[in-house]
Amino acid sequence: MEIKNTKKPFIYYLIIVMTVVLLINTFIIPMFLKRHVTQVDYGTFLREVENGRVTTVEVQDRQIAFVIKDGQGQGSIYVTGLMDDPDLVNRLYNAGVKFGRVIPKESSPLLEFFLYWILPLVIFIALGQLLARKMQEKMGGPGGVMSFGKSNARIYVEAETGKTFADVAGQDEAKEALQEVVDFLHNPKKYEEIGAAIPKGVLLVGPPGTGKTLLARAVAGESKVPFFSISGSEFVEMFVGMGAARVRDLFNQAQKKAPCIIFIDEIDTIGKSRNSGPVSNEEREQTLNQLLTEMDGFDGRKGVVILAATNRPETLDKALLRPGRFDRRVPVELPDLKGREAILKLHARKVKLADNIDFSTIARATSGASGADLANIVNEAALRAVRMGRKYVLQEDLEESVELVIAGYQRKNAVISTKDKLIVSYHEIGHALVAAKQKHTAPVHKISIIPRTSGALGYTMQIDQDERVLMSKEEALEQITTLLGGRSAEEIVFDTVTTGAANDIEQATRLARNMVTRFGMSEEFDMMALETVNNPYLGGDSTLLVSANTSARIDEEVLKIIKSCHQKAIRILEENKDKLHELARYLLEKETITGEEFMNLLSASA
Ligand code: ADP
Ligand code: MG
Ligand code: ZN
Repeated sequence: MEIKNTKKPFIYYLIIVMTVVLLINTFIIPMFLKRHVTQVDYGTFLREVENGRVTTVEVQDRQIAFVIKDGQGQGSIYVTGLMDDPDLVNRLYNAGVKFGRVIPKESSPLLEFFLYWILPLVIFIALGQLLARKMQEKMGGPGGVMSFGKSNARIYVEAETGKTFADVAGQDEAKEALQEVVDFLHNPKKYEEIGAAIPKGVLLVGPPGTGKTLLARAVAGESKVPFFSISGSEFVEMFVGMGAARVRDLFNQAQKKAPCIIFIDEIDTIGKSRNSGPVSNEEREQTLNQLLTEMDGFDGRKGVVILAATNRPETLDKALLRPGRFDRRVPVELPDLKGREAILKLHARKVKLADNIDFSTIARATSGASGADLANIVNEAALRAVRMGRKYVLQEDLEESVELVIAGYQRKNAVISTKDKLIVSYHEIGHALVAAKQKHTAPVHKISIIPRTSGALGYTMQIDQDERVLMSKEEALEQITTLLGGRSAEEIVFDTVTTGAANDIEQATRLARNMVTRFGMSEEFDMMALETVNNPYLGGDSTLLVSANTSARIDEEVLKIIKSCHQKAIRILEENKDKLHELARYLLEKETITGEEFMNLLSASA
């Protein structure tokens, strides 16, 4: 086993302590022990011997120490250098001096023992404690999290999380799955009698901000059992060997407190597949191995349930997912329309609201938002109400904060030239018109040419009536056409085009590309998967699985889709050119118009 990383810190501390002890022994202690000693020359020594004032002489390795008695029968100590003096013994004998004896020391053996042994030991321990505390502070753990991974280490226990399932909205399936765990913790006997073993480990899996941590705390709160919580990243920051020791402690303590819950948040930080990547992480592997051992070692029937959360389940080591370990998965997905409304209402309970708040509109405008985003929207709305000097939150506050959380701050006073504003108006109406003139698009909810800090100069908000899960090929194509409608309007009305369509182009291209590589929506490639998504929960990277030749053909196919959608957008706008002008001028004047206003103007005959 490699312990490369331990060597440094421990040797380092050892050297510090040794140095301190050495300093104490050589300098500090002798200062206490030495009584006053006077140095004299050899002649003086001989004279004093002859005068009979010297009582005791001790010949040492490098010097001669002697005691001269004074009036009160006390003696003071003198030293002198050694000389090659063969007569000395005779001289001393004749003078009747006690010689060769050890000079009595002032200190008692007890004092000596204390100074040389106990004192350094005490300093040693005190120093160790100090270092331990320093390390704790560095790790930011709550008071007394650990003391060198000894078995008496305290691990964060929270007897009452104070959360219940009522604090979690819109995760009915997850709650249902966890209800069994709660039931088991309430009454382990019932399960024991039948011989049923509850899953030892339950893995909460889902994107960030969906309430995984919240759910785990709610399970503890519902079951009214101790909750041992630790985050995977806390293990990794520790010294080598510490993570494993801590896992051991965690399970030791938990078993003493059963029934209880162990919650390992962000387990992917220690549970990463052991053969992933070229660099292996000894510490993480050791911790993971210890975790596996502990999970196998304890008896699930005792009433210890291990919950863990991750948003990267695909990176987890397969060993963690084997039966007897985290064999139950509870998906915690992004909330749907109903769920979003429920979450908004839940968080809105903490703020004062106007009577006529319509949460379903807000929920419909926030497709794809996580629970954490929605909580943030409610809070931003309350902050806005305060800024506006109001005592309660209006619908307007909520709608603004949707845009804030999703699209960035409004810059009301940013100066934009009239010319730019005109272009942006046509651009946005271009989107809206193309959307309205197609069958499968979501209705326009709001159009605005008030710029945001996100960089967008305008903004067309479409809101679906229902939550959409599947998208048909027609819908995908129409969405691309709508995205290209902004730039198309610019082309028709002005001689030139602007940079304002960059984001539209990006989105349209991504969708067109996905149609070809992932959704099987192109004739060229039929239902061949050309790409895999590596990390579905972090919306992230995907890998092309094709040859360079095919890759070029994909690009052609994507371009074909985009070109045909672009032409369609131009056609729609040409056919409705009068309305385009009328609506764009109206938007320029009002800056923000609602979907209703838009539809009224569109359907009114000119
Ligand atoms: P995760 O652990 O999945 O990343 P958290 O549990 O930390 O997410 O959620 C962060 C915050 O978002 C919670 O404290 C809560 O305020 C809010 N939140 C998230 N999901 C929900 C939900 N389903 N119901 C109510 N609040 C939620
Ligand atoms: Mg979390
Ligand atoms: Zn646009």
